[in-house]
Amino acid sequence: MSISVDSAAGQAVKAADRAHVFHSWSAQALIDPLAVAGAEGSYFWDYEGNRFLDFSSQLVNTNIGHQHPKVVAAIQEQAGKLCTFAPAFALDVRSEAARLIAERTPGDLDKIFFTNGGAEANENAIRMARLHTGRQKVLSTYRSYHGATANAIALTGDPRRWANETGVSGVVHFWGPYAYRSNFHAENEAQECERALQHLEATIAFEGPQTVAAIILETVVGTAGILVPPAGYLAGVREICDRYGIVFILDEVMAGFGRTGAWFAADHWGVTPDLLTFAKGVNSGYVPLGGVAISGAIAETFAERPFPGGLTYSGHPLACASAVATINAMAEEGIVEHARQLGETVIGPGLRELADRHPVIGEVRGLGVFWALELVRDRTTREPLTPYNAAGAAAAPMAELAAACKQRGLWPFVNMNRLHVVPPCNSSEAEVKEGLAILDEVLSIADAHT
Ligand code: PLP
Repeated sequence: MSISVDSAAGQAVKAADRAHVFHSWSAQALIDPLAVAGAEGSYFWDYEGNRFLDFSSQLVNTNIGHQHPKVVAAIQEQAGKLCTFAPAFALDVRSEAARLIAERTPGDLDKIFFTNGGAEANENAIRMARLHTGRQKVLSTYRSYHGATANAIALTGDPRRWANETGVSGVVHFWGPYAYRSNFHAENEAQECERALQHLEATIAFEGPQTVAAIILETVVGTAGILVPPAGYLAGVREICDRYGIVFILDEVMAGFGRTGAWFAADHWGVTPDLLTFAKGVNSGYVPLGGVAISGAIAETFAERPFPGGLTYSGHPLACASAVATINAMAEEGIVEHARQLGETVIGPGLRELADRHPVIGEVRGLGVFWALELVRDRTTREPLTPYNAAGAAAAPMAELAAACKQRGLWPFVNMNRLHVVPPCNSSEAEVKEGLAILDEVLSIADAHT
């Protein structure tokens, strides 16, 4: 890591950023983005010589860390051969990326439609489901994030949707399971599962099953809380979908490609959806890439009838080359298994130990390298440390907590009243322990609010 101090260069980057870059999800005048000078593995650094342990994996996408040498080399090599080519052509690198992905997706999800990211993957999955069934409605959960394009943001339940609400027709929200704050007055996970499935069936009955094209779920809900579904829930949804001829879409944009300690989160429950969407971890975001893995039956719908959708950069050669190198590196280096072990032996036990010491921690949940600490003012009432807000932003005292992490060299992922612990899948045990030790210090600050 070549970390040096060059304050003038950092100031110049910031000035140019302020002058010309319009940032996502932000009030432009109220933000002060860090000027990043470089990154390697689980760390990145600024122009002042400050180094940060990336416990956010950026937007939970750098599953193999920053600047993995095999992936960087593959992008460089592909750039020397063929930088871009339209999706209608067959390319070695594109077919290889599709083969590697299809080999890992569950069941018969053997055809891959490439996109440039997660939201577009969900847009196209919805389009496929509607055309396949001839129905219009799509059901999604309130606690979800599916992306920021028109349909994807409408399907999102996270309140960031509010300001963006376009009134897209055919979107119906329902409650998914969340035992800690049960909407169903459930007393345990099994009850939560049973009642959540009953609620879904009742929703379908009132919407009219013959009008419902698809149900889209995050296999493990990510941004909206790292909600691991109770045993039996996904299998129950699968069964309901089969019964009513509804397409089951699993959004694995955040949970896929090793994040949960399996190639896909669906593997933990042995459930195969009809469509599975992915992005982020497929190539750790080194070049924008996402896609839809498609079942045999849905692919067959478009065997003799054109699929009316596509993007100029679908299956971009540089993105595909980075996906091939990422997937191969993950397999060669045992990164998925490593993520599972980190969860079971370091992160899970480490976070539970923190919960023993810090009354502000209401619940610890997660698996693999996909965890959340839900922070509360009072463990009995479960009052969130910050009120529910539409911005999804870190309101006080969560903002204070985030700042304290950064001062100590830890880059956190904070959402609402939660601290998400989502380091790269190939973080070392020592790096994870370094991060947990910093969390231990800053949680004492938060304890003062209980
Ligand atoms: N789906 C899920 C579960 C996500 O977490 C995200 C992004 O965070 C998206 C979809 C949208 O992906 P993108 O930002 O690549 O469009």
